[in-house]
Amino acid sequence: MPSVKEIVQTMEYGVAPEANAEVLRWLDARESFGHFIGGAFVPGADGESFAVENPATGEVLAHCAQGTEADVDAAVQAARRAFPAWSGLPGHARARYLYALARLLQKRERFFSVLETMDNGKPIRESRDIDIPLVVRHFYHHAGWAELVESEFPGKGPVGVCGQIVPWNFPLLMLAWKVAPALAAGNTVVLKPAEFTPLTALAFAGLCQEAGLPDGVVNIVTGDGETGALIVRHPDVDKIAFTGSTEVGRMIREASAGSGKKLSLELGGKSPFIVFDDADLDSAVEGVVDAIWFNQGQVCCAGSRLLVQESVAARFVEKLKARAEKLRVGDPLDKSTDIGAIVADVQLQRINALVDEGRGDGVDCWQSSAPLPNNGSYFPPTLFTGVSPASKLAQEEIFGPVLVVMTFRTPDEATMLANNSRYGLAASVWSENINVAMDLAAGLKAGVVWVNCTNMFDAAAGFGGYRESGFGREGGREGLHEYLAGKPAKPARKPLFPKPDFSAAPAARTAGSAADNTIPALDRTAKLYIGGKQVRPDAGASYAVRTADGSLVSQAGLGNRKDIRNAVEAANKATGWGGNAGHNRAQVLFYLAENLEARAAEFAARIAHLTGSGQEEAIEEVHLSVQRLSYYAAFADKYDGRVHATRARHVTLAMNEPWGTVGVCCPDDSPLLGFVSMIAPLIAMGNRCVAVPSQVHPLVATDFYQVLDTSDVPGGALNIITGEREALARVLAEHHDVSALWYCGTPEGAAAVEKASSGNLKATWALDQTAIDWRDPAQGAGREFLRRATQVKNIWVPYGE
Ligand code: NDP
Repeated sequence: MPSVKEIVQTMEYGVAPEANAEVLRWLDARESFGHFIGGAFVPGADGESFAVENPATGEVLAHCAQGTEADVDAAVQAARRAFPAWSGLPGHARARYLYALARLLQKRERFFSVLETMDNGKPIRESRDIDIPLVVRHFYHHAGWAELVESEFPGKGPVGVCGQIVPWNFPLLMLAWKVAPALAAGNTVVLKPAEFTPLTALAFAGLCQEAGLPDGVVNIVTGDGETGALIVRHPDVDKIAFTGSTEVGRMIREASAGSGKKLSLELGGKSPFIVFDDADLDSAVEGVVDAIWFNQGQVCCAGSRLLVQESVAARFVEKLKARAEKLRVGDPLDKSTDIGAIVADVQLQRINALVDEGRGDGVDCWQSSAPLPNNGSYFPPTLFTGVSPASKLAQEEIFGPVLVVMTFRTPDEATMLANNSRYGLAASVWSENINVAMDLAAGLKAGVVWVNCTNMFDAAAGFGGYRESGFGREGGREGLHEYLAGKPAKPARKPLFPKPDFSAAPAARTAGSAADNTIPALDRTAKLYIGGKQVRPDAGASYAVRTADGSLVSQAGLGNRKDIRNAVEAANKATGWGGNAGHNRAQVLFYLAENLEARAAEFAARIAHLTGSGQEEAIEEVHLSVQRLSYYAAFADKYDGRVHATRARHVTLAMNEPWGTVGVCCPDDSPLLGFVSMIAPLIAMGNRCVAVPSQVHPLVATDFYQVLDTSDVPGGALNIITGEREALARVLAEHHDVSALWYCGTPEGAAAVEKASSGNLKATWALDQTAIDWRDPAQGAGREFLRRATQVKNIWVPYGE
């Protein structure tokens, strides 16, 4: 034992272990765990189990049941049985249960912190000060939402039974992020914790019993990835919420395609941490420590790519190394440990392999010399400098305490480097110049941007990604939408359209001279509309456009893959549209409405002729289209964001941002109103569209070109490709530069679109064309369209010295 004098000289910490006797007693009393189904712990159907280890020591903590098909089915059935009564409770009653859970968690904070640390390997400092307090906060916050959900989300209700699959990096916190909003909105759940870290979820199940939560409202099935896949595939699950790797997220997208299940995915990241030369460098160093060495770097939003302005790079990296050298790696239960254990040996091997590969490529690698414990899975703070932006180190999620450093000269270069990633979960910007920082925050493709701070979380703010980091948000008002569904639409109307024929374009129609019917008609083939110009289809192909009674009217361009690519390219160039003020976009939309109205008679005649609808109905369709354009013009500068009430002395701005380029596949019916109802909200919010209009009645949209030309719509903001909807939808779904896709067509088409979109994990919105009445503003317009036309970016800005 060193003397006080020696301690003062060396400033060495002594050991300060957190007591774990209560957790050990709890584990001893159980030894093996079953699933939590229908309010009781039950053994697994086939008796198989797996061992759960403490990664800091390798010792086995418990055995848990391996969930089988029968277990998952029993859990889903229990959740289904519980759903009517739970969703039928007044919000206030659900709030009381959530409040009770929050209170119970709060009373057991120490127990849950220790159990989490033993199960996961994270330092007790973090589980005690970050994870568990946030869990409690989440349940309190959502107790509030249970009270408010009916009045704040009129016309919406719970989705049903939710399958929830969570990872091992924040086991109880991820449970809270999923269970609390689901329950608040009136859903019941089947949750699968990660195989490495199921224990706090099982302890939480005990709290559900204590709180008297009705049986079956929360069900927990333990197991591996296959158990998760069984939940995804179960036909009686209405929604899947997943957090984990992008690879598994993609599999889930594919597996659930066409099932009608609502889906939210919170996936991986490679988040940039950007330091300008005018930043408070010492604070920024602390920021990096929190960004990449928090939870051993096993954080989806870890700031794992450090971008430093060239002029301060050398100084900053030296400061950082000096700080990292002081981080203590070791026993996670020791209160002065900074970096605990990696969750499992297999993860440690993965980190080692990626680091070795980087070293093998000759990249400069620095590691802290902190001594590592002999047993358990540990990795020291690691820093790669001089990394090439395209290298594997800079592109792949390492999910360990490994930072890669790159430099930049100008803000534009910083934005470009930061966005040079397939991910888009979070970003951190450090500069004392608020103009520069906010300019970057606006340009970054990330769901969360922290200005002069990092890894800020709160139950009142949404969290979730852009691009391959997934879609959907967790937390706050945004997150609640993921657990709500619209009330069922009215019964389907009889469709008003014949089947199109794409087999071959017919011979040109004869005009017929007055005398002998021998003069060929002028060839009238409607073209495509790309980049503000009418262009011929790439293959020169066309197809027959007929009226409802089958007589030939003319031909329309038969767009193909190449045409879609050209349209996407044009759309991607029209970036100015999204950068316009809402007021300017509103003016253009009002002008569109005005010019459409000026030609109302012509459009009505065309609609009546093509669709066979009566003249009155056609006139109504045109008037409603004019109205809808005006409606979204009005919203262009009114569908604004919020300032969330998160932490004290922080402004958390939830900004509604356009997706970028959005594919739009329109219904066959209501060829003008369906088309306008889909493109107007997207354009109003600043997106650029590549639209496939009604494949049966494309001429209504091609007539619209002239309205566009006279209405100041900039070239590329709206592109129109006529042709076979299902084929073009697939190309749009597969295209990596299309950020989101709205599809209105058949259930088979929707399934194909959802499957094909898994490549870049684009957000899709599938509507059944026979189940939506575009004339009814409650179905064919409204805030839901605007919500779907945007994604929320949360920007956190602290204030004060
Ligand atoms: P996974 O994505 O495999 O695991 C996340 C959850 O999904 C776990 O509960 C897992 O089960 C379950 N799961 C696995 N396969 C399927 C499937 N086919 N269908 C449904 N559920 C499934 O992540 P890993 O744990 O394997 O980690 C691998 C890498 O993923 C990490 O190195 C990291 O890069 C990334 N990752 C990202 C996270 C994030 O928050 N973004 C979190 C965790 C990992 P189980 O693990 O129990 O077998």
